[in-house]
Amino acid sequence: MAAVRLHSLQAWLREFAKLIAENKDYLTQLDSAIGDADHGINMDRGMRAVVTVLDNEEFTRVADLFNKVGMTLVSSVGGAAGPLYGTYFLRFGINAGDVAELNAARLGEAFLAGLEGVVARGKPEPGDKTMFDAMAPATSAYNAAIDSGHELAGALQQARAAAEQGRDDTIPMLAKKGRASYLGERSIGHQDPGATSTALLFAAAAAALP
Ligand code: ADP
Ligand code: MG
Repeated sequence: MAAVRLHSLQAWLREFAKLIAENKDYLTQLDSAIGDADHGINMDRGMRAVVTVLDNEEFTRVADLFNKVGMTLVSSVGGAAGPLYGTYFLRFGINAGDVAELNAARLGEAFLAGLEGVVARGKPEPGDKTMFDAMAPATSAYNAAIDSGHELAGALQQARAAAEQGRDDTIPMLAKKGRASYLGERSIGHQDPGATSTALLFAAAAAALP
């Protein structure tokens, strides 16, 4: 079975940073409708800081790489999304452990640990109109695909598609968490910014990990 090596995981992070930079204005525009117009700015600041780390430090263990990435996001991003993505990557790294590569099944366990970190931190429930609504279906789709015998690349494509569907499915939801929840009914009809950046996270995985 194909293994995901450390340099591929770094490529995933670089690709996520690139997609965030390309979609910075779009993410901020989505956040201006139901939040405070900073999601693109927040994520771009954080992922730029992550790229600086990747450019300047050598990593030999998955746990060390993601510990540093998580800490960088927590410390460089204000707002809800920084600590949530920071926790995602911290838990991803702890689950992955002191290894130099992950097979496809272990990658799925690390995705799940990251998701559980977001749940522990933000207490999102399905349908609350948050990043969870893209992250949970993507994680389930990936693990279901691996369990049913798909190769890494195919499973990542399914995760990407599920994240994009989950993102789109946030549009009719009424926000129950975060700033958007202050709007109540007026949050209906708008796509969640965090679910949109999470779709980029899985698009980056599908592009860079196989
Ligand atoms: P802030 O809301 O502090 O301005 P951002 O704009 O960067 O932070 O991020 C907003 C996104 O964070 C939302 O679109 C939503 O997806 C996510 N979010 C907010 N609160 C929670 C929560 N409690 N659990 C999960 N995700 C959340
Ligand atoms: Mg915001």
